[in-house]
Amino acid sequence: MDPYPKPLRDLISQLKRLPGIGEKTATRLALFILADRANLSGELSSCLKRVSEQIHLCPVCFNLTDSQRCAICRNPERDPSLICVVEEPSDVLALESAHVYRGLYHVLHGLISPLSGVGPEDIRLSELIERIRTSQVSEVIVATNPSVEGESTFHYVAKMLQDAHLSVNVSRIASGIPMGGELKYMDQVTIASALRYRRSLKDI
Ligand SMILES: [Zn+2]
Repeated sequence: MDPYPKPLRDLISQLKRLPGIGEKTATRLALFILADRANLSGELSSCLKRVSEQIHLCPVCFNLTDSQRCAICRNPERDPSLICVVEEPSDVLALESAHVYRGLYHVLHGLISPLSGVGPEDIRLSELIERIRTSQVSEVIVATNPSVEGESTFHYVAKMLQDAHLSVNVSRIASGIPMGGELKYMDQVTIASALRYRRSLKDI
């Protein structure tokens, strides 16, 4: 017999739907929320409500925003001639944390993956073409992950822009040995990639 009353069991079931959360963690979190219900449960439910009601996709770059356009698209100091293409909104956060890139973004919300049944029409690729066609873009930097899907998407973007006869440079972020990493611990794919994307001394 289930030792927990139904409302608590329902909360555990909902928490278990989150990525990386199993039965044990969901139970621990549910009991924690219950124990601090005077503070936590009210704030948590109001945050969930606000997120669901106020967050939508920026109509320009498809990043998350609670305004008409996202903060990056609205920023006049960003360079609109550069578009960095990423898989999901969390990639924008990761790239922004480096404080190096000053252009705009385009969030695809997925990668092309024939094995999972995701085709080019299932992600925001036609919007990317339209955006490049209707604005002054000089370079598209494809910053998808160095996976089979990330590489396929990069090649698809490059071909798509070429077929559309859009005069824009397409580049790919480098991948290889991470800072602090050691060659002897790297897998073959990482080493091959590091060699393929090597830089000349004059470019460093
Ligand atoms: Zn935006």
